[in-house]
Amino acid sequence: MTRVVSGVGMTSQRTRKRMIDRLREEGIRDERVLAAIAAVPRHLFVEEALASRAYEDSALPLGFSQTISQPFIVARMIEVLREGRELGKTLEIGAGCGYQAAVLAQLTSEVYAVERIEPLLAKAKLNLRAIQQFKVRLKYADGNLGLPEAAPFDTIIVAAAASSVPKALLQQLTLGGKMLLPLGTGDQFLLLVERRAEGYVETRLDSVRFVPLLSGLE
Ligand code: SAH
Repeated sequence: MTRVVSGVGMTSQRTRKRMIDRLREEGIRDERVLAAIAAVPRHLFVEEALASRAYEDSALPLGFSQTISQPFIVARMIEVLREGRELGKTLEIGAGCGYQAAVLAQLTSEVYAVERIEPLLAKAKLNLRAIQQFKVRLKYADGNLGLPEAAPFDTIIVAAAASSVPKALLQQLTLGGKMLLPLGTGDQFLLLVERRAEGYVETRLDSVRFVPLLSGLE
């Protein structure tokens, strides 16, 4: 029994290492981001039937028509947000199964994550408990409204595509804060929003494909 378990562990170690090598080849340069991804056992966040595919660089189904984000996108988004600074107090919109929140928690001490589908939130709670990650504060809420009770945030990362930038999220950024969100209904791209003394500065980045940011709770 012990041998079987450690065998699985070894395989996951090796495939995880391969995933990190691939992310490096794809252009991820921030070693702390790579280390954070290497530290999170992605196979524990996906359905058992998909566990063998957990370290492929693909989005995988989570149930409820949602997907766990592709490791490259998680790495890329966090790398952009970390450029030249630490993440600080961070809000994730769209916790899903909790995978990205677990990666964020490797990099900063204050992580809040909101999710609008209750059974997914419950799943995220179980998954984070299973890896003994107790730092992430999960909330059942509509992320379009941000999380006023914990605002402001140095970093906001949105895991679902909005048709326009939610105003509440802009208001909940600290001065010097950064938000990264997928934008668009058909063609989508990542939009970086930085809050500076002179106002909000927007930069359009990569094209992407995310599930839509919806309204209300389920
Ligand atoms: N970050 C997740 C990926 C989840 S996919 C991971 O690492 O696995 C995007 C998630 O955003 C879905 O779970 C979806 O239910 C959620 N979502 C969509 N609109 C939302 C909203 N308005 N507020 C909160 N969560 C939302």
